[in-house]
Amino acid sequence: MPPLTLDTPLQFLKGVGPRKAEGLAEKNLSTVEDLLFHLPFRYEDRSRFAGIASLRPGDRATVRGRVLSSRLFRTRKRGFTILEAVVDDGTGGLGLVWYNQPYLRETIAAGREVILHGVAGRSRYRGRALQMENPQYEVVASDGTEAIHTGRVVPIHQRVGEVSTRLMRVLLHRILAELPASLPDPLPDELTRARGLIPRGEALRQVHFPPEDADLEACQARRTPAHRRLIYEEFLLLQLALGMRRRAVSRERRPPCEATPPMRERLQEVLPYRLTGAQRRVLKEIVQDMTAPHPMNRLLQGDVGSGKTIVALMAMLLAVENGRQAVLMAPTEILAEQHHRGVAALLARSRYRVQLLTGAMTAAERRPLLRALEQGYAHIVIGTHALIQQSVSFQNLGLAVIDEQHRFGVAQRLALRGKGPSGASPDVLVMTATPIPRSLALTVYGDLDLSVIDELPPGRRPIATHLRPETSRARIYEFIRREAAAGRQAYIVLPLVEESEKSDLRAAVELAADLSGKVFRDLRVGLVHGRMKPPERDDVMRRFAAGEIDVLVATTVIEVGIDVPNATVMVVEHAGRFGLSQLHQLRGRVGRGPHPSHCILVHDDDPTEEASRRLEVMRDHADGFAIAEKDLEIRGPGEFLGTRQSGLPEIRIGNIIRDAAVLDEARADAAALLSEAAAGPGHRPLLEHMKRQWGDRIGLMDVG
Ligand code: ADP
Ligand code: MG
Repeated sequence: MPPLTLDTPLQFLKGVGPRKAEGLAEKNLSTVEDLLFHLPFRYEDRSRFAGIASLRPGDRATVRGRVLSSRLFRTRKRGFTILEAVVDDGTGGLGLVWYNQPYLRETIAAGREVILHGVAGRSRYRGRALQMENPQYEVVASDGTEAIHTGRVVPIHQRVGEVSTRLMRVLLHRILAELPASLPDPLPDELTRARGLIPRGEALRQVHFPPEDADLEACQARRTPAHRRLIYEEFLLLQLALGMRRRAVSRERRPPCEATPPMRERLQEVLPYRLTGAQRRVLKEIVQDMTAPHPMNRLLQGDVGSGKTIVALMAMLLAVENGRQAVLMAPTEILAEQHHRGVAALLARSRYRVQLLTGAMTAAERRPLLRALEQGYAHIVIGTHALIQQSVSFQNLGLAVIDEQHRFGVAQRLALRGKGPSGASPDVLVMTATPIPRSLALTVYGDLDLSVIDELPPGRRPIATHLRPETSRARIYEFIRREAAAGRQAYIVLPLVEESEKSDLRAAVELAADLSGKVFRDLRVGLVHGRMKPPERDDVMRRFAAGEIDVLVATTVIEVGIDVPNATVMVVEHAGRFGLSQLHQLRGRVGRGPHPSHCILVHDDDPTEEASRRLEVMRDHADGFAIAEKDLEIRGPGEFLGTRQSGLPEIRIGNIIRDAAVLDEARADAAALLSEAAAGPGHRPLLEHMKRQWGDRIGLMDVG
């Protein structure tokens, strides 16, 4: 066997067969180095031994003693195996029970000295004697080798596929023992010295197996020197990657747009209302970018309902005025269809030509559309990710807008960017309602310029939010009826959980039937869900938008972007099942017009503690930023900025909120390093390492 290195594939490790290796690879854990960066998600102090005599039922404790006896037997009824043992530490004896782990018979053998960690309880059988069920165990090696599962601050790693927490610990311990004492370190010495960071190898050892004097609190809070060192490294590499991309984009050239007075006038003619101050400000920033010599790369942030779409449309029309095409990509068919309907209506009497392209269209429907794009006959195309397919090409794509960008993966965003003339990047505008504080946004979207719409269109009334139990349903329906009588419309949203998609769907279908047949026989009830055929769905949405449907029963397909200003009631059934950002998005479907609006969150009889807190946050807060902050408090930083929801690059160990101070240092250092690197070849190894780490994760492959 060649000696172990950071690059050794995990499948070559003892104890990792092809199946386990495959499971690990699915989580992007392929090499020894990958596994080393799979950090414990918590730690347990199993270092202090309790005297068995002092244990009380319910105590979680670590004990150390000698096995007096052990015996394996099989239950008659269901064929379970049970290993029963007794351990004694000099103060007293403790019963041990393991279910269905017959192989433990060899390990937990009489005479062995063992360390055990678990919860003490009363045996139901043996005279209610004290015992531990399925405790963590470790045989004390006679040669004095380190204990790894007990008798110390023990790392708890997330299990991955068939690699259990315990096996993970064994693998990491073995890897760390076999690797050379000092590991190659991509960070330049000056930097580690200046920032007071411990060496990489040491950090990896300590983070997995904290030293004897380790502070448990600091470990849990990820504030040990080892954590800090690894988090810094991750942030520095990310900041370098973003900085490189930013530099690359600013070096690109394309003929700038013009924004002449007649052009501006023609744009004005399309505007259905006066833009708010915030909209005018961000539009100005966008126009400045589009008339600059290098492509725009801008993030437009604005809370739900702040009016991002019209700003994007103005930018698209400016591109068209300059003889270019523009594309708007949305994450769902329903949203793309809505955008298309809205834009087509605004442009109906203009010379601008807009078309829709979604995955639901047949090849025959698509062919003429593709031709129109290729030949430049269509000015604007709106669609879903169907737009990034190979078969879609433009005569001269000038601007790509990505709506709800956090719903797209990096690869999809890059693919759209690649549709510019002869592969050059068009102007790019990405839009999101993900509320990240500005300072942080600048850091995590370090390659983008940032515009923020921080003002709602005029005439908006606050949305009243009510929490109601299921038993209030009759009164809720009564309320909907009154709103409908006043000419308003309502949504009733049901959750759609993946595992039980079918039964949830049936619930929606049944509710709609029940409402239209009984409760709201005098009203027009519609139903929309993701499994409907697109033309059918588009028809329902169109009729709802036109006011021909009073009550729309929907699954979460309407969660993002849907805009029907006359709708004033949003009822969310089983509201406790939704996350805060989802609830905020759903509530954002109402309150879009001049009428007072209501969001009614219907909760199950016995909501969990966390669900209740979420609902209260919704009742008490309207602002997306405030809700995001509460979300962070409730769920903790790890969950909050989960990659998929936020559209952030995938940060594995650091946390941009918890570790904001480290992030700041890393950003400053990355900027300095990049200007040094621009001056000379000094930092090549570091940059090479960065590209290996982040290249395909944020799309640096095209950067020199
Ligand atoms: P979001 O930022 O959530 O995408 P939209 O672009 O869907 O928001 O806009 C929300 C609603 O506000 C739409 O009905 C839109 O027509 C309306 N709107 C946007 N800007 C203005 C404005 N300046 N004045 C009046 N209504 C506006
Ligand atoms: Mg929108």
